[in-house]
Amino acid sequence: ARPVVAIVGRPNVGKSTIFNRIIGDRLAIVEDKPGITRDRIYGASEWNGKPFSIIDTGGIELDDEEPILKSIRMQAELAIEEADVIVFMCDAKAGVTGSDEEVAGMLYRSGKPVVVAVNKVDNIGRMDNIYEFYNLGFGDPIGVSGSHGTGIGDLLDAITDNL
Ligand code: GDP
Ligand code: MG
Repeated sequence: ARPVVAIVGRPNVGKSTIFNRIIGDRLAIVEDKPGITRDRIYGASEWNGKPFSIIDTGGIELDDEEPILKSIRMQAELAIEEADVIVFMCDAKAGVTGSDEEVAGMLYRSGKPVVVAVNKVDNIGRMDNIYEFYNLGFGDPIGVSGSHGTGIGDLLDAITDNL
C-alpha cells in the first residue's frame, strides 16, 4: 500500500488549497461513508518517484456541535493513527497560535515525522514570518503560498524525504 501523508491544522490556514495543489486532478477513488465525503479529502500523488496517498483532515466532517479545538484534536488523532508523515499546516499571517502549540504537543508526543508548512507566504517580505515556527520543535519550517503555488516543490521534497 502507498504510504499516507496527512495534513493537519487550524481551519482557514489553507489545508484544502495546498491539498489541491499537491494532488492536481488526481483524486483517489474511494467509497463515501456517511458523514465523510471521502473523494474530497483523499488524494493520490507522487514526487521524486515516490507515490503516496494524502488526506486533508480538515475536510472530515465532524459533528457541528464540536468546538473547533476539539475538532482539530480529533483530526490530529486520526492523522497520528493513519499517517506515515504528518504535514502540520500553519499560517504566516497569524503567526504561532495557542492551538498550534497544543496540536504541536500532540504531534510531538506521537513520534511520527512532522513537516511544518507555513502557508500564506505570498511575498518575499513575509518569509521572515516563518522563523518563529522553529519554536514548534519540528526542524525547518517550509514557507509556501497556496495562492501563488510557491514553495510546493520544497514541501514535497521535505515530505518525500520522510517516506
Ligand atoms: P482550510 O480551512 O485550512 O482548508 O483553508 P482553505 O484552503 O479553505 O483556505 C482558507 C482561506 O485562505 C481561503 O480564503 C483561501 O483562499 C485562503 N488562502 C489559502 N492559501 C492562501 C495563501 O497562500 N495566501 C493567502 N493570502 N490566502 C490563502
Ligand atoms: Mg479545508
